[in-house]
Amino acid sequence: MTSALATELAGSGVAGVPAVRLRALRKEFGDVVAVADIDLDIFDGEFLTLLGPSGSGKTTVLRMIAGFELPTSGRIELAGADVSQRPPFQRDVNTVFQDYALFPHFDVRTNVEYGLRVKKVAKSERKERTDAALASVRLEEYGGRRPSQLSGGQRQRVALARALVNRPRVLLLDEPLGALDLKLREQMQVELKAIQRDVGITFVFVTHDQDEALTMSDRIAVFNNGRIEQIGSPADVYERPATEFVAGFVGTSNLLRGESAQSIIGRPGVFSIRPEKIRLVAESDGIDADEHSAVGVVREVVYVGDATRFVVGLDAGAELVALRQNLETSSMQVNEYRDRRIKLVWRREHEFQIG
Ligand code: ATP
Repeated sequence: MTSALATELAGSGVAGVPAVRLRALRKEFGDVVAVADIDLDIFDGEFLTLLGPSGSGKTTVLRMIAGFELPTSGRIELAGADVSQRPPFQRDVNTVFQDYALFPHFDVRTNVEYGLRVKKVAKSERKERTDAALASVRLEEYGGRRPSQLSGGQRQRVALARALVNRPRVLLLDEPLGALDLKLREQMQVELKAIQRDVGITFVFVTHDQDEALTMSDRIAVFNNGRIEQIGSPADVYERPATEFVAGFVGTSNLLRGESAQSIIGRPGVFSIRPEKIRLVAESDGIDADEHSAVGVVREVVYVGDATRFVVGLDAGAELVALRQNLETSSMQVNEYRDRRIKLVWRREHEFQIG
């Protein structure tokens, strides 16, 4: 049934027209500019994440797409139609919130079916669509349970089914995994992505968690102060951060600048190098022609189970973090590195100039 839903939805796209198009979108609350003239195209069937720190404007963008907030200026199009001034119920979108908002006294099936009852959809179609929605979140066997008889992850899936049953063109998700513990959260990240792939609906997902964004998204829009600093695939944003803010917010900020950049890289600028691209070798070891290196003292050693983070104060003045997988070493062994002199080596292709 899931694939029937997918086929139907796949047929609903208009070639070349983005599912969501934002143009010069702006929202002010009094003196606060929550969203500052953003442009964004979200493609049909895409999993797009709005990622950024608290207060950067992500939720306000989502609420404007849903119609819960009206823009101060700018334009919102859904499948090519200008919906900027339309009320929420006249927009082909559904929202899933962090707190699920399930009806506690109804069973799962009734919760999922609710939107169709309100829309007075005929009983047989209601049954068919509710079955399909429950199957898409793998809860076929749970229709008779009350929300209180479900785990957090199952409740979240009911909330998802309740949105999917309406077959919206776009699903908006506002930190939907925020209330789950880490293990369940990681499991749901994988499930949510699989469900999205199955049903083929455009997902716009808000989170402040960079790992979550990197795990699930086709593309990520990184927000800062009401603006989009960078938009791209997880690999683009992580490996080729466009700004210092992105380098610091997505992953560990590992920057060389000023005199340290000049002496290590050989030219001025601001350069980002990801910690896992850096090798640790003995100070006297040589390097290849396509590599750069820097010597320094290990200031801190942080054992994190599968890997160890080495914080190294460079002779040239900066500090870099190197990450090494603990293939054979133990926590005792890595601690021996503290205060030692060491050389950091990385390939030139892994240093990105961002300023
Ligand atoms: P979080 O991750 O904490 O939810 P966010 O990135 O989603 O943050 P928004 O909720 O969009 O950020 O808020 C952006 C800015 O707009 C913040 O400075 C916030 O205080 C302000 N803001 C949001 N809603 C309102 C409102 N209804 N009235 C006044 N200011 C608001």
